[in-house]
Amino acid sequence: MEIVVLRLHHRITRDKRMSSHLALVARAFGAQKLVYSGEYDNRIEQTVTQIVESWGGNFGVEYTQNERQFIKQWKKDGGIVVHLTMFGIEIDDVVDEIRKVDKDILVIVGGAKVEIEFYHLADFNIAIGHQPHSEVAALAICLDKITNGKGRKRRYSDARVEIEPCKKGKKVIDKRRKEK
Ligand code: SAM
Repeated sequence: MEIVVLRLHHRITRDKRMSSHLALVARAFGAQKLVYSGEYDNRIEQTVTQIVESWGGNFGVEYTQNERQFIKQWKKDGGIVVHLTMFGIEIDDVVDEIRKVDKDILVIVGGAKVEIEFYHLADFNIAIGHQPHSEVAALAICLDKITNGKGRKRRYSDARVEIEPCKKGKKVIDKRRKEK
């Protein structure tokens, strides 16, 4: 099952760090790719490339000029669409249904204003609680619930840097040193 995150309406000034954080959260919680629309901003890709080089995997970033077309094509290809919005159905009430569908999932997160059309294009409008908060927090919880925690426990065989968990302090295994 592939999970792709679609970030709507990126704006370079408002979302300078937010969209990069969405990409990092998407990668760390089990998605394979972030697609974004709005203003083109190569810094999102640069941030992700640096992380992937050290921490492994093949997470990608893509830009789309036409997010509506992208969503429609996703559905034509057989995937389902989950839209994160505080107006939706509480995730705990639908997560089992989403998992059961067992199809590729496009998770849409909004920016400042999400047009009503996206609510209708989505198969599931999902709330992470019904208070306004952050797309980054909403995405992390959504992916964690959908993957049942497996996304964030994934390890990468090509990682050049890994953490060795420890109760106190920091242990980092840096394979790059051995490569030299
Ligand atoms: N007022 C905006 C609107 O018209 O949709 C929402 C702005 S909010 C900062 C940006 C994004 O965060 C939303 O589009 C949604 O994807 C996500 N988000 C914020 N709170 C959420 C919640 N309680 N549940 C699910 N997603 C949420």
